Amino acid sequence: MRVYADNAATTAVSETSLAAMLPCFREYYGNPSSLHTVGQEAAERLSLARQTFARYLHCNPAEITFTSGGSEADNQALLSAAALGERKGKKHIISTQFEHHAILHTLNKLRKNGFEVTLLDIPKSGVITAQQVKDAIRPDTCLVTIMFANNEIGTIQPIPEIGKICREAGVPFHTDAVQAAGHLPIDVQAMDIGMLSLSAHKFHGPKGVGVLYVRKGSVPLVNVIEGGAQERGKRAGTENIPGIVGAAAAFKEACEHMAENAEKVSRLRDKLIAELTKIPHSILNGEQERRLPGNVNLCFEGIEGESLLLLLDQQGVEASSGSACTSGSLDPSHVLLALGLPHEVAHGSLRLSLCEYNTEEEIDHIIAVLPGIISYLREMSPVWDELENGQREHVI
Ligand SMILES: *Cc1c(COP(=O)(O)O)cnc(C)c1O
Repeated sequence: MRVYADNAATTAVSETSLAAMLPCFREYYGNPSSLHTVGQEAAERLSLARQTFARYLHCNPAEITFTSGGSEADNQALLSAAALGERKGKKHIISTQFEHHAILHTLNKLRKNGFEVTLLDIPKSGVITAQQVKDAIRPDTCLVTIMFANNEIGTIQPIPEIGKICREAGVPFHTDAVQAAGHLPIDVQAMDIGMLSLSAHKFHGPKGVGVLYVRKGSVPLVNVIEGGAQERGKRAGTENIPGIVGAAAAFKEACEHMAENAEKVSRLRDKLIAELTKIPHSILNGEQERRLPGNVNLCFEGIEGESLLLLLDQQGVEASSGSACTSGSLDPSHVLLALGLPHEVAHGSLRLSLCEYNTEEEIDHIIAVLPGIISYLREMSPVWDELENGQREHVI
């Protein structure tokens, strides 16, 4: 049995999304900037895709910019808000310790350009408070950027409350909603969201397509890619029509089936959490309540995450130790360290991220194989040996 449980890293393209894309390759293959028929057929599909995103995000189509993915949308949002701040003499940005690297690395770049960045601490729950944001806002704050839901531990942040605080303070608010879009209800107006990033491949759309929403009249976009006048001159390059059309089809499908998917997936999630936390010296990272329907993130003491992933893969289970971006490096996840976990515990992490394609049988398979793998790894672990004979204290 093969169980794909790494949907926070990427998802399989849905049948609906694929079917929407196929004619764009060979029939509606025109360049939307061309005036002839096949070009205009592509332009029409681009316009419909923009309307779809606007409808489900509750904004205006003119507020939607297509990008090459979540990373580019994040970069463009931050660089644009920073440019506006600089013009106003405001160079302070508020974010959190556990953002995606598309945010954190862009903030580092801005730091080098004289911006001061406050990264809010993450409570044990994995959910920051709106009060933390309120306390950090200063007269020179030009941007608050806080993710909607965390990609490693799945915790959902109090976005409407933060949005309200930012609106009252007159500070632009951006949220990286890459993990939330298509999985949680989003209404940019009701939630006071000024800028939002999302990425199609996290909700069964194709890779390489993202959306940046920016409220009209708020932050003027600066170009990350220079060239032609596509996307109202804010993002050059011939539009990826198949990708954009597939992204819109996937988003519509995800939004229309959101409630039933969430119910199914969160039931599977809760079963996994209930069974796997029975393993001695294991802990669920981040609280269970305010959590993405598909996210399970655990630490096992005395375990090395990479070995765990390899043995799970041998049993057909495809999972992750945290974010796709940190695997391959020996550093433990910055998200788990931000939660206050010691290095050696953070090393023993496992993220299982589910989607509506997962079945009860697959969940039972994970529950059947994981405890044996943990015991096997602990038997060989010198750290576990020290924990067992009292040379080292158990932390969890
Ligand atoms: C995946 C992800 C991104 C990056 O999106 P890409 O489309 O892969 O560039 C950014 N932020 C979060 C929270 C993500 O999970």
